[in-house]
Amino acid sequence: MREYTLEEIAGVLREEKSFILTGHENPDGDCTGSTLGLAHILRSLGKQATVIIDDKLPRFLSFLPGAVEIRRADEPVEADVLLVLDTVPTRIGRVLEQVKVKKAINIDHHETNDGSHMDHHIESQAAATAEVIYKLVKTLGVPFTKEAAMCLYTGLATDTGYFRYANTTPFTMRAGADLIEAGAVPYIVSEAVDERPYQTVVDLSAALDRMECFAGGRACGIFLDAPTVAKMETTEGFIDSIRIIEGVDIAVVLKMKEEKLCRVSMRSKRANVSALATQFGGGGHEHAAGCTLHMGYEDAKKTIMEAITRALEAQA
Ligand code: AMP
Ligand code: MN
Ligand code: MN
Repeated sequence: MREYTLEEIAGVLREEKSFILTGHENPDGDCTGSTLGLAHILRSLGKQATVIIDDKLPRFLSFLPGAVEIRRADEPVEADVLLVLDTVPTRIGRVLEQVKVKKAINIDHHETNDGSHMDHHIESQAAATAEVIYKLVKTLGVPFTKEAAMCLYTGLATDTGYFRYANTTPFTMRAGADLIEAGAVPYIVSEAVDERPYQTVVDLSAALDRMECFAGGRACGIFLDAPTVAKMETTEGFIDSIRIIEGVDIAVVLKMKEEKLCRVSMRSKRANVSALATQFGGGGHEHAAGCTLHMGYEDAKKTIMEAITRALEAQA
């Protein structure tokens, strides 16, 4: 599929009138912040912009300006252009079935997105899709509204762990500074994004009770079976509590979502977890990746533990 430059995408945004913006299932701060942020910019240019994310939005992202307008892909919808942000176009639920458009463009920063599914602009060096959208808005030459700044800042901040992870560059921080100047308020974002219901902290405590270190202490996992997951509203951020353990390179959270479907999240300090996730049809980044295993709980747990152990042994 063909590659678009940011100048070419800016041309499409100027010429066309109506846009549908979407992001990945299991939405995070980057996909939600990027879609809403660009939607605010498009509206400021007098365009029609609809954000569709075909999954439940976590409560801690509901503070984002425009979050209440996000729709699920429950009915057919038409527009000039579909923009698929922060993911390969295979992780967007029913969006492709419901949307009728003249043009579709995928804007992403995942190194595992090979661009074969849709016309695209992929910057694998970018810290976040929000960073690519920031550049796109600069290319367009229009000002950031306060709402757009808040959304794009949230995307940058969440994908970089508040400008701490290995993907953070001087450019990322300059973009963050520009967005703060345009009205983003960092403490409002971090208070909202880090807030969890009381019950979720209770759930975290239960999850930590079950954590298991393996691969000689170089990996640590939280493995949650279906009944346990069903009782939890979110497990977002649980992985951060185990990735900090001394000596642990790879942290993993496995959640059984339904019969023969387990979702795996991985984080690493040195190992390449994106290569690991790719073995199972998933993807992501060198130090943050995920995949879906179509197996029962015990099989999935054993499979991922063995793969992680093998990867760490190969590296030693
Ligand atoms: P998560 O652990 O869900 O925060 O995801 C970490 C990174 O891996 C993100 O960049 C995700 O987009 C990516 N990722 C997670 N699950 C999958 C999957 N099943 N397929 C492809 N990429 C994934
Ligand atoms: Mn994302
Ligand atoms: Mn991202």
